[in-house]
Amino acid sequence: MHASFEKNKPLHEFTTFKIGGPARFFIAISSIEKLAETIRYCYNHQMAYLVIGKGSNILFDDRGFNGLVILNQIQSIEFRGNEIFAGAGYSFSLLGTQTARAGLSGLEFASGIPGSVGGAVYMNAGANGAQTADVVTKISYISEKGELLHFQKKDLQFGYRFSSFQTLKGAIASAQFSLTPISDAREKQIQIIRYRTATQPLKEKSAGCVFRNPPQTSAGALIEKCGLKGMQIGSALVSELHANFIVNRGGAKAKDVLQLIDCIKKQVKDKTDIDLELEIRFIPFEKQF
Ligand SMILES: Cc1cc2nc3c(=O)[nH]c(=O)nc-3n(C[C@H](O)[C@H](O)[C@H](O)COP(=O)(O)OP(=O)(O)OC[C@H]3O[C@@H](n4cnc5c(N)ncnc54)[C@H](O)[C@@H]3O)c2cc1C
Repeated sequence: MHASFEKNKPLHEFTTFKIGGPARFFIAISSIEKLAETIRYCYNHQMAYLVIGKGSNILFDDRGFNGLVILNQIQSIEFRGNEIFAGAGYSFSLLGTQTARAGLSGLEFASGIPGSVGGAVYMNAGANGAQTADVVTKISYISEKGELLHFQKKDLQFGYRFSSFQTLKGAIASAQFSLTPISDAREKQIQIIRYRTATQPLKEKSAGCVFRNPPQTSAGALIEKCGLKGMQIGSALVSELHANFIVNRGGAKAKDVLQLIDCIKKQVKDKTDIDLELEIRFIPFEKQF
C-alpha cells in the first residue's frame, strides 16, 4: 500500500446521501500530477479504485468499498473572457453562479447542482433544458495508465446523463467551457435556483433524482401517480416534495435505499408497465480493477 493512503475511511462523509461504509484505502488529491501518479500506482498494482467529486450522485454500499477511493479536490479556476478553465474538483454550482454573475450564459442551470465539474462532465449533468455537453469544449483526462490526455468535445459522445467517460477507465482532471455573454444571465440563474428550491428537497440528505426520466414522461410524475410519495423503508423515504428523490431521514442504510428502489420499480412496472432505470450510481463493495 502507498504510504499516503489512509485506511478504513468512512465514506458517508463524502456523499450528500450520508450513506456508506469505509473505503479500504482513501486519498484526497489536489493536483493533476498527484491524480496521475495515484492512477499510475493503481494500474501498476492492479488496485481497484473509484474517483469521486462531491459524492452527490453516489450510493455507496453499507460495507464500503474494497479498493481505493480518490477524492478529487483539484480546485483551480480561471476566467479568460468567455472561456472558463476549471479543475475537475471545482464546485459546479459555484461555477454556475459565478459565470452568471459575470454576465456569461450557458451554465446558469449548474447553480444548485451540488456536484463537481468532473462529476458534471462524467454524468453530463443537466437541468432546465440545458446540459454540460452544450458548453464544454475541451477536457484533460488521466488515462488508466496515468498519462495526461487532452480531448476535444468532437472526440467524445454525450447523451442524456451519459458521457464517453462512463466507458473509460481513468479520471477527468479539468474542463474548459465556452460561454456566451448576455445581459440577463444572472436573472436566469436566480429564476432557476428559485424553482429548484421550491421543487426539490435541498435541505435533506439525498443523491438527487434516483431514476432517469423514461422517454416522454418524468420518473417523478410516474412515482407520484402510483401513490408512492412518503413510502419509507428504515430511514429511507420517498420525498413528499419530489417523488423522484429518496431522502435519508437520519441513519439510513444503503440496503434500505436499495429495497425502496426495488419496491418503487416493481410498483411502477405493475401499474404503468414502464421499467425505471437508475440515474444515481450504486457503487458495490467489490469492483474489478
Ligand atoms: C439535491 C440534488 C440535486 C441535484 N440536481 C441535479 C440536476 O438538476 N441535474 C443533474 O444532472 N444532476 C443533479 N444531481 C446529481 C449530481 O449532483 C450530479 O450528477 C453531479 O454532476 C455529480 O457530481 P459529483 O461530483 O457529485 O459526482 P460524484 O457523485 O462524486 O460521482 C458521480 C459519478 O461520476 C464519477 N466521477 C466523479 N468525478 C469524476 C472524475 N473527476 N473523473 C472521472 N469520474 C468521475 C464517479 O466515479 C461516479 O461514477 C443532484 C443531486 C442532488 C443531491
